[in-house]
Amino acid sequence: MNKKRLVVIGGGAAGFFCAINAAAVNPALEIVIIEKTTKLLSKVKVSGGGRCNVTHSCFSIAEMIKNYPRGENFVKKAFHKFFTSDTIIFFAKRGVQLKTEPDGRMFPVTNSSQTIIDCLMNEINKHGIKIMMNKEVKKLSVVSGQLSIEFANGENTSSDYVCVASGGFSKTIQFNWLKESGHSIEEPVPSLFTFNIPNDPIKELMGISVEKTIVKILSTKFSQTGPVLITHWGLSGPAILKLSSFAARDLNKMNYDFKISINWLPAYNEQTLRERFWVLRNELASQKIINRNPFFLPQRLWEYFLQQSGINGNIRWADLPAKQQNLLIKRLCAQELHVKGKTTFKEEFVTAGGVKLNEIDANTMQSKIVPNIFFAGEVMDVDGITGGFNFQHAWTSGWIAGKAIAEVTLNRNAIL
Ligand SMILES: Cc1cc2nc3c(=O)[nH]c(=O)nc-3n(C[C@H](O)[C@H](O)[C@H](O)COP(=O)(O)OP(=O)(O)OC[C@H]3O[C@@H](n4cnc5c(N)ncnc54)[C@H](O)[C@@H]3O)c2cc1C
Repeated sequence: MNKKRLVVIGGGAAGFFCAINAAAVNPALEIVIIEKTTKLLSKVKVSGGGRCNVTHSCFSIAEMIKNYPRGENFVKKAFHKFFTSDTIIFFAKRGVQLKTEPDGRMFPVTNSSQTIIDCLMNEINKHGIKIMMNKEVKKLSVVSGQLSIEFANGENTSSDYVCVASGGFSKTIQFNWLKESGHSIEEPVPSLFTFNIPNDPIKELMGISVEKTIVKILSTKFSQTGPVLITHWGLSGPAILKLSSFAARDLNKMNYDFKISINWLPAYNEQTLRERFWVLRNELASQKIINRNPFFLPQRLWEYFLQQSGINGNIRWADLPAKQQNLLIKRLCAQELHVKGKTTFKEEFVTAGGVKLNEIDANTMQSKIVPNIFFAGEVMDVDGITGGFNFQHAWTSGWIAGKAIAEVTLNRNAIL
């Protein structure tokens, strides 16, 4: 029997997982990883601020899939085959222990992404997987029953199986070679970014965070509960990053010019906060409003709200004019801010969009359009919020593709 060949396009997390797992299932398979740059696993290296947020400590598929604004149903099927616990076991078996932070993010105990890179490189060497660097794939097609891979420098190679693990591209034109291979592309738009608020003094409070808020994008259905961090350009923090992800397409259409409403005291709405204010006016009647911040908000933020509502902080609670009280209640419960522009979140960012999921079988990652082409990772129209979800998808899809390819090469009758 001829030795079968697998070419993996892309030397990132998904490509490595596909190659390693294919080799583990069928050691006789000839496997080559093709990478267009001079670096392997470059995103793993910089991920999670250099610590690599490998996965998320979530062991319920139903809960996990809620963190994928695009591809929720697709990853649901895939996670039944390879899930977070499998990722933890994979690394543990190779001597890499992961630890969980209070927010659920999992990192190597060494706090260094190099630990993950070393582990994956060891596997590549152990299995004799070949690597070709500095080779950019420009065309993928079927020629005489084989998959033909053409490079930007004019060279080419052929293969029985190809796994496309080329990551996300920010521009539609970068997907052209995949479109030409017969696949449809969901237009790429950025996801996971922070909001610029150029015209409000809130920026002066940079560094302040509030643990629980509700942020809504006005004129849309998007709303998130969670911490908000004030930065020197606007707003960041989990609630903002989640909004940027779930509303990625809508915000792109709005050209990143939109209004948000923030409830800084989610235990209240305007009505219940008004009732609370009447109680406070009595309880704190003789105290200066600036000195007595009854909601445990950061003091500078409280002072900002007073100032924005035209309230002199030295007046007493009992003397708070009704008009100013209304303005303050409105700001605390439904502060409107105008977002103009976005800023890349340096810890993690992804592109929404990629190969359309109705053209890929989630059980094998095989293309439904061109047999023997498989996909893994961010090149597909799947993306998660920040917290390790994007890598988990890369590990899962890479593992499934590698296994499916190796199994079919072991058993000619295997049904993909
Ligand atoms: C700064 C940053 C930090 C991040 N931190 C985290 C984190 O902590 N946790 C998390 O879950 N996610 C994180 N992410 C997201 C995560 O890195 C990606 O979702 C993940 O790397 C996707 O893996 P991939 O293998 O699909 O693609 P990639 O890692 O992008 O790898 C694709 C590879 O393919 C190569 N390639 C592309 N086109 C071609 C071609 N035509 N020919 C040959 N090679 C090609 C690329 O050069 C690249 O090396 C972060 C992202 C960024 C940008």
